[in-house]
Amino acid sequence: MKIEEAAEKFVDWIGLKVITSARGDNHYLLEVDPGRRFWLGRLAPEEAVMSLGLGERGERLDPCAIGFRLRPATTPPWQFTVFVSACAWLRGDSKVWNKSSKIVTSIDVVIPATNYQSASFGSSKLESKFLELVGTRALTAEVRIEISLDSTNHAELTVLLVNKSPKSHEVIADTNLYECSLEISGLDVSPYILEALPDSFRYDRHIIGYGINCGLTMTSDGVICSTDAIIADKGRPSYWNVAEPQPDLTFETLSKNPLPSLRRLLSLLTQWGDSTWSKHALEIRARQNGWTEEMHKEADIAARDFSCERERIEFGLNLLESNPDLLKAFKLMNTAIRHASRDRYQAWRPFQIGFLIANIMSITEPGNDSETADIVWFATGGGKTETYLGLLVLAAIFDRLSGKMSGITAWSRFPLRMLSLQQTQRFADAMAGAELVRKEAGIPGDRFSVGFLVGDGAKPNQIPIEPKENQPDPDDDSMPARCQVLIRCPFCQRESIEMVFDRATWQLQHSCTNPDCAWTEGALPFYVVDEEIFRFLPTIIVGTLDKAASISLQASMRGLVGPPRGRCPVAGHGYTYAIRKARPTGCLVPGCLAPSTTLVGSPDRFGPSFRLQDELHLLRDSLGAVDSHYETLFDHLQEEICGRKPKILASSATLTGYEKQIDVLYRRKARVFPVQGPSESEGFWTAESDKLARRFVAIAPRGETLESAADRIVTELQSAIRDLVSDPHKACEEMGVDVSLVPQLISIYGVDVLYGNTLRDLDAAVRSLETQIAVDGALNTTTLTGKTEFSEVRQILERLDKPEELFSDRLHVVAASAMMSHGVDVDRLNIMVVLGMPLTTAEFIQATARVGRRWPGLVFVMHKIARERDASVYRSFQKFVKQGDRFVEAIPITRRSRRVLARTVAGIELARILHIHEPKCAGSLTLVPQIRQFFAKNKITLETELQAAIQALALTGPLDELLRIDLASWFEGFFRNLRTPVVTSASPPISVSQRSQCDLFAM
Ligand SMILES: [Zn+2]
Ligand SMILES: [Zn+2]
Repeated sequence: MKIEEAAEKFVDWIGLKVITSARGDNHYLLEVDPGRRFWLGRLAPEEAVMSLGLGERGERLDPCAIGFRLRPATTPPWQFTVFVSACAWLRGDSKVWNKSSKIVTSIDVVIPATNYQSASFGSSKLESKFLELVGTRALTAEVRIEISLDSTNHAELTVLLVNKSPKSHEVIADTNLYECSLEISGLDVSPYILEALPDSFRYDRHIIGYGINCGLTMTSDGVICSTDAIIADKGRPSYWNVAEPQPDLTFETLSKNPLPSLRRLLSLLTQWGDSTWSKHALEIRARQNGWTEEMHKEADIAARDFSCERERIEFGLNLLESNPDLLKAFKLMNTAIRHASRDRYQAWRPFQIGFLIANIMSITEPGNDSETADIVWFATGGGKTETYLGLLVLAAIFDRLSGKMSGITAWSRFPLRMLSLQQTQRFADAMAGAELVRKEAGIPGDRFSVGFLVGDGAKPNQIPIEPKENQPDPDDDSMPARCQVLIRCPFCQRESIEMVFDRATWQLQHSCTNPDCAWTEGALPFYVVDEEIFRFLPTIIVGTLDKAASISLQASMRGLVGPPRGRCPVAGHGYTYAIRKARPTGCLVPGCLAPSTTLVGSPDRFGPSFRLQDELHLLRDSLGAVDSHYETLFDHLQEEICGRKPKILASSATLTGYEKQIDVLYRRKARVFPVQGPSESEGFWTAESDKLARRFVAIAPRGETLESAADRIVTELQSAIRDLVSDPHKACEEMGVDVSLVPQLISIYGVDVLYGNTLRDLDAAVRSLETQIAVDGALNTTTLTGKTEFSEVRQILERLDKPEELFSDRLHVVAASAMMSHGVDVDRLNIMVVLGMPLTTAEFIQATARVGRRWPGLVFVMHKIARERDASVYRSFQKFVKQGDRFVEAIPITRRSRRVLARTVAGIELARILHIHEPKCAGSLTLVPQIRQFFAKNKITLETELQAAIQALALTGPLDELLRIDLASWFEGFFRNLRTPVVTSASPPISVSQRSQCDLFAM
């Protein structure tokens, strides 16, 4: 048996265990009140629910009924059979509770063709069944039928099983009914159309019916059954979906002779497209699926998009064939990625190569392609990062071959501050591979390197000679270790990193201590201090978005939009920037007095070729608004300085409204790769397979808080895994898996993630974990939230990645907030309990994608069922999981925010002074008189600066008039301050403090 198969069986086994334990299936005796123990499958007495006076909310929290809403396929009369089963718990003498046997009974329902609204069936039959069962007349239930018309005027039938027992009874201490289920046989139903979703030729919107306080399924012979949990399986994407064998896309082959494989891939894509997207093919589909005219139009547009995609790949392939440098770079890139893959994989997935080839023109013809932003959209875990790493390595090598010898090729940004460590390691691995091949091939230019540029707190901006409080102290021996970012040496892949501060070159270095390492040139080419990044302009910068605002404050950030001022002749000092009092030659090394030398090579080529945005969908609200101003500012600066703007690449978890989002943020057109196939199960690049990726289990705890229900789930999960540890044979027999696979199963299912939407939810859950979970042995828990220290995050990830030998020493539960939704890729995380639906569907998709990355995952989605949103997701849960992206809410974003403009405008002008004006003047422009003199001499006026700012902010449209007025009035003030001589003005005439600039992204 293979581990994949065993893993699926494990998921079945443990999922069932949680549900049966919550319902009480395997319990017969209890020493505690069953009402406090079982939270699924039970029905409270209607009288008790009514007396709460909470209305529908109370009914959902502790329901007295389960049932269905259905649309009969025929007109009345209707005749069908309802099957009911339930049991009770009876208190014995010594406070021990005994479970009764189960009643299972059928009730015939006949509804005549007359007009009535509601009726009850089976109450006397059920009452006598219960009398038989418990020996006293106490418990009873009924099948209640209600008839109404739905929104389309179609008859709708509500069938309910209701607990009609009294709220309390002198003999029967607990009048809840347990393990209740309801089935309907013999009723033909006509499916509903889920109106919440837009009509689309790609998706099926039909659902059989709606469960009421339960889920529903239909058996193959048409019996409709209630379920206590709603299960929705999501299949693993398959990356090759045509009958012909996949072309050889191994790194090995592509590094030697790539063209035949690539030609073959293109010809298969063309064939597939002809059979899938041709006019004829679409007409057949339209007939089969009854497309409306709208759907047909939508399909025609998709067919056109597909054909563009195919043409871009063909064009890229032609470039590769006709440009020897490009072909050489492509081959070397494959060798580099092979190094970075660390033998974990040997080949590209076809879509990765598809994306690469389709985007090759952004490398060779940057001018032609930079007006469009390209978005990669794949199922998470599909290898998205590697895909654009391939493109970036290709671009970096091509840069060197075509004369760019130094400077930044790409700047990759994450929206959040933390947890991009694993991504950073992957970038470092890829660039180390690129550096090894560069040296071997004897390609001239700077070595390839990576910089880590993130917001404050995580690592230092600079190492000062005389540190103030909270600044890194160069004399503190423990300081370097605290700044470690890489986990492994990217060259030899060993955990052999040592952190050193080198006083001579004033560098905080990652060094490899492995004597056999392929890297023999001292410190690794990896920079974590901002100033070192500016000094060495690493080939790729990985970082967070908040750093963008620093462009207005730091003259030495110019390398991100253009050339530095010069180079310091002292070895290890790097590039120089604007002259300041503390750095009289522009060298950023404290105390350096060596005069700066002029740059070699074309200054125009210093501007990066790419800006990457990871997790694009998170750029919304004020973060999105602030960023939109900075995005166009960066474009503006780079265009002014280098005559071109970079290509934007992005990845997003959702495609809802992506065109508008790209337009607002970047003022570019948007394109997505790949074009989705004509249905969920068809696609050339990706389609859903029948291998389980994630099982989602929707749960609405009955009569129990979310926290306690979550505790019970975690208890059950941890007990089950401990059973597997202590008695593998028994558990393996239950599961039907080979006992030799147990150690691996324990490893991949031994950690549970408890996901909370708010820190408050999470704190409560953690407190309760500590006190409420009773399992054999210790329960090792940890938390991953925005409050977790950077170094601790690294340690936790390491522990998860490389677990301790003994199960008892490992981490068992990770309580996590949204902070872990991004960039945490740990194959061992496969079980998650979600405490309440996250606020947005995008977050739900992102968060749950942290589990099941490699193995089948299991996600318990605990619904806060009293909340309307949770209740509504619960009602159509299967569609919600299957067509998740279609449920994603449009992303709220605008650049026309006057409030945001009031905070960014000063930064725009400061950035222009620092990066456009100051480099043109012999001295510095930090004081009012200098600026006044420079502006006068160069005819820079209110009007020229205002127009430049309007361009920089891309506020040129007719709807931007109000913002232009705001800008004009700000610039009037600015120029007024400039004209008015102030005696001791030591800073530019800007009314916004530097501090508030830095806080912009924290809005
Ligand atoms: Zn090494
Ligand atoms: Zn120097």
